[in-house]
Amino acid sequence: MNLVLFGPPAAGKGTQAKRLVAERGYVQLSTGDMLRAARASGSHLGQRVAAIMDAGSLVSDEIVIELIEDAMAANKGAPGFIFDGFPRTIPQAEALDALLGRSGQAIDLVIRLQADPEKLIERVSKRFAEEGRADDNPESFKVRLSAYLTQTAPLVAFYEAQGKVRGVDGMADIESVASAIGVVLGG
Ligand code: AMP
Repeated sequence: MNLVLFGPPAAGKGTQAKRLVAERGYVQLSTGDMLRAARASGSHLGQRVAAIMDAGSLVSDEIVIELIEDAMAANKGAPGFIFDGFPRTIPQAEALDALLGRSGQAIDLVIRLQADPEKLIERVSKRFAEEGRADDNPESFKVRLSAYLTQTAPLVAFYEAQGKVRGVDGMADIESVASAIGVVLGG
């Protein structure tokens, strides 16, 4: 089972992905986590993406596609992948289809966490106060939301055309979102 956890920034994709890892043994592939790890390691890649990430913009398709390709190769034989924060553009989605297709696989479902942008702004200002993640500051978060609306939201139609999108209310509490996802996945 290969899933895309889809939704705007701060909709709870990472939280739900981690639950699916714990409960079902799937492998979470989060390009955001990979990029943060690259930064923390001080690598050349990390240095290249730092300013872009802090501003809230998307890094290039080429970079994230390569990260995903390497992570998939490193996790061959996984019972399923949860793509979290990837794909974020149509070229990324096309590249993902091609990568999975090489081993006769495909995306099975896209779980769309639906969320109200105004409420997300509230959620993130709270998170910024608590955790201080640079790209949660109000200006960067607005850029992230706008990148989502212009570059990522068109993926809904891309995956709807393949009949794969299932909507879940992302503004409910964590347990309710998790059980709604469980229903989508068949218990
Ligand atoms: P996230 O933790 O998924 O919200 O990602 C944090 C930041 O990493 C984003 O705001 C982008 O700058 C970058 N990023 C993560 N995933 C992608 C992606 N699939 N495409 C482009 N940029 C990404």
